[in-house]
Amino acid sequence: MSSYHPLTLDEAMQLSQKVLDLFDANSELTCQEIGDGNLNLVFHIRDMNSRNSVIVKQALPYAKIVGESWPLSLDRARIEREVLQEEYRICPGSVPQVYYYDDELALTIMEDLSDHVIMRKGLIEGNHYPLFSKHIGEFMARTLFYTSDLAMDQSLKKEKVKKFVNPDQCKITEDLIFEEPYRLSERNNYSPSIEDEAEALRTDRELHLEIAILREKFLTEAQALLHGDLHTGSIFVTSESTKVIDPEFAYYGPMGFDIGAVLANLLLHYVSIPGWITDEAAATARAEELLLMVQNVWTEFEHRFCELWDQDVQDYMARTKGYQEFYIAKLLQDSAGFAGSKMIRRIVGLAHVADIDTISNETIREQAERKALSIGKNLVKNHRRITSITDLMNLVTDAS
Ligand code: ADP
Ligand code: MG
Ligand code: MG
Ligand code: MG
Repeated sequence: MSSYHPLTLDEAMQLSQKVLDLFDANSELTCQEIGDGNLNLVFHIRDMNSRNSVIVKQALPYAKIVGESWPLSLDRARIEREVLQEEYRICPGSVPQVYYYDDELALTIMEDLSDHVIMRKGLIEGNHYPLFSKHIGEFMARTLFYTSDLAMDQSLKKEKVKKFVNPDQCKITEDLIFEEPYRLSERNNYSPSIEDEAEALRTDRELHLEIAILREKFLTEAQALLHGDLHTGSIFVTSESTKVIDPEFAYYGPMGFDIGAVLANLLLHYVSIPGWITDEAAATARAEELLLMVQNVWTEFEHRFCELWDQDVQDYMARTKGYQEFYIAKLLQDSAGFAGSKMIRRIVGLAHVADIDTISNETIREQAERKALSIGKNLVKNHRRITSITDLMNLVTDAS
């Protein structure tokens, strides 16, 4: 059935029945398309007899954005499934298992994680994820460490860098995160009530310099194989389990970009809390919970990353005294800077987050937007001065 075309529901079912042992002649399959359909098709296929189920994800050759169509390489589907396979190997159980793929059709058939919920939704519903920081810290420590020059032969690492060149997806990030919020652009998207804030972003030269420095890192620093889009909409959770999906933006980049994505999305939820919890004491407790999660994501990551380094570092020069401390200090600064830039773009740029956008009270929503910008700017402007996680947390709580 190869040669690319977007599959119909029937074709997705027929293919799954044919290629998977999970389904046989007695299977009674049903199929639903559950994606948002902007970049990819996501089919949920279930056998009504055995209750077995799978997800079929197929890339579309374009993105539908503000009425126009933006061409995108289908190679990102190959990258996504290779990264899922790589992450499954490096950090077992942290991503859906890949059952089948067809790179020509740009599709992957994978484990169905429908018993989990998307973390962004779970947070908005007020759920607690006490193991999340530990799980995601472990995921990032393992995937980033084991794909870096610290743990790999340098020539093999360069082969990997080549395999994961992802120019169309990187261009989206370069434009949407590191450029458009700082100039007039048709794709920027914010309510007129915060025009003063948007105007300030366009004229703040101190901020522009720090964004240019972070952008350069994103463009040039092939430090580790990143997930590349590690926001709370790409993370499935239960109270016991954490699973990462959707690495279609993966490429070799600066580690702090993934860490910063997790921190930023927890902080975007943190500023949205008054929109979801009206009781003042409960809102304060929830805010403290989110701040603790932010802090713990970093400390869990740092702890595990250093443990792996001490056990498994392959590079001779990386054993030099003081180098690990230098490396971690830089990672923390990068993570803070990338976190700030991600917060800013989610308020004034093209793509927003539901935590804030779906707050129904306009005044509370606007307060959350202003607070996100204030924290984001504080992190970006001061990221190169941070020397501890306490410094980072103070930049968050000091922002008005
Ligand atoms: P996109 O790249 O288009 O954002 P995602 O991979 O994020 O696609 O998937 C979109 C949605 O489809 C997810 O938010 C989730 O609801 C569902 N989905 C994706 N992968 C799985 C999976 N392995 N198991 C269950 N649901 C999934
Ligand atoms: Mg079969
Ligand atoms: Mg997604
Ligand atoms: Mg995606």
